[in-house]
Amino acid sequence: MKPLGPIPAGFEALDGELAIGGRTASELVAQAGGTPLFVYSREMIARRIADLRAAMPPRLAIHYAVKANPFGPLLREMAGLVDGFDIASGGELAMLRAAGIDAAKVSFAGPGKRDAELEAAIAAGVTINLESANEARRALEISARLGVTPRLAIRVNPDFELRGSGMKMGGGAKPFGVDADQMPALARYLIDAGAQWCGLHIFAGSQALDAEALIETQANVLALAARLADEIGAPLPKLNMGGGFGIPYFNGDVPLDIGVIGAALTDQFNSLPESLENTQFCIELGRYLVGEAGVYLTRIVDRKTSHGQTYLVTDGGLHHQLAASGNFGTVVRRNYPLAIATRFGAEAEEEASVVGCLCTPLDRLADQAALPRADVGDLVAVFCAGAYGASASPAMFLGQGPAGEILI
Ligand SMILES: *Cc1c(COP(=O)(O)O)cnc(C)c1O
Repeated sequence: MKPLGPIPAGFEALDGELAIGGRTASELVAQAGGTPLFVYSREMIARRIADLRAAMPPRLAIHYAVKANPFGPLLREMAGLVDGFDIASGGELAMLRAAGIDAAKVSFAGPGKRDAELEAAIAAGVTINLESANEARRALEISARLGVTPRLAIRVNPDFELRGSGMKMGGGAKPFGVDADQMPALARYLIDAGAQWCGLHIFAGSQALDAEALIETQANVLALAARLADEIGAPLPKLNMGGGFGIPYFNGDVPLDIGVIGAALTDQFNSLPESLENTQFCIELGRYLVGEAGVYLTRIVDRKTSHGQTYLVTDGGLHHQLAASGNFGTVVRRNYPLAIATRFGAEAEEEASVVGCLCTPLDRLADQAALPRADVGDLVAVFCAGAYGASASPAMFLGQGPAGEILI
């Protein structure tokens, strides 16, 4: 028997089934026209962001990292809830524009920005978080050709990392950002070239559940930004402090205590060095805002036994939920939170493995889990599916195609 991850708070049973937004899993599947299906809850996203705002100092703006979930209706919903959007490609810019989002609220980070992407972003008035001196030169050339003043910030490769972070993106040699020691000269070059200087972006890691580690990183980010602002010799208009707030995926994971993070950040903001006194601060979060508000529903199409083990074979799998299968940046596979949606809240009666419909042993949604007895036709729910699900999985693998998505 292997433990399942913790089911996020806020999911209830209705008529013996998992309900989301007051509607049962079966109703939602019928409404959407079938499985597999991602369901995202407006109410849960709004509540999450309201709680976060209540915990954080009012001076801190909250940005959404679009790569977590770029579903159009969700982006439109987020427009009314967050202060800005962070993108990592021209494709994500096109998605935001299709959702009617003001490009002035958007910043664009990511290595390997192509000229066409830079051009579209600069023409629209997006802030570019420059990742290298070469990219800075290309951005200035493109702006000159377009006859516009570009909004330019620099992404700094910090000399520290977010402790306990699921994905380390700072500290030492990295393809991301400009090393701190090369940054001041580049900033002065941009200012001298007549760009609108927008400040710094410092992202040190992702998926941290340790509040103390996040507090330490935020303090390091502020200290580094203050030092760099002094070296540049110009005030820092904006500082994107990164993010890294994680969500519990696995057995034993404990939700982040945002109260202590907000209190520590309030203290920091109350004693800022002079170079940061007039700076606008933001954090950029993906999974923390939307991850727990999404559920992936898939139907059991076969039940079989092999060498004494029970397999529940579903019509979904890793092509929609790569992370739940354990193949998206994890070293040891552990079970995500999962339930039989049509027996929600029922006692566990047997040990079963839930697998996908792909012909590969990698396609596992739950390994040797304690579950109520489920049969062909029952629905399985995989939780924590609101981020890095549909858009971060190989939907075309084995000719399967994408899952449905609805925002309710
Ligand atoms: C991926 C990424 C994020 C979002 O990460 P989450 O863990 O989803 O919050 C934010 N900023 C940058 C620069 C990223 O690369």
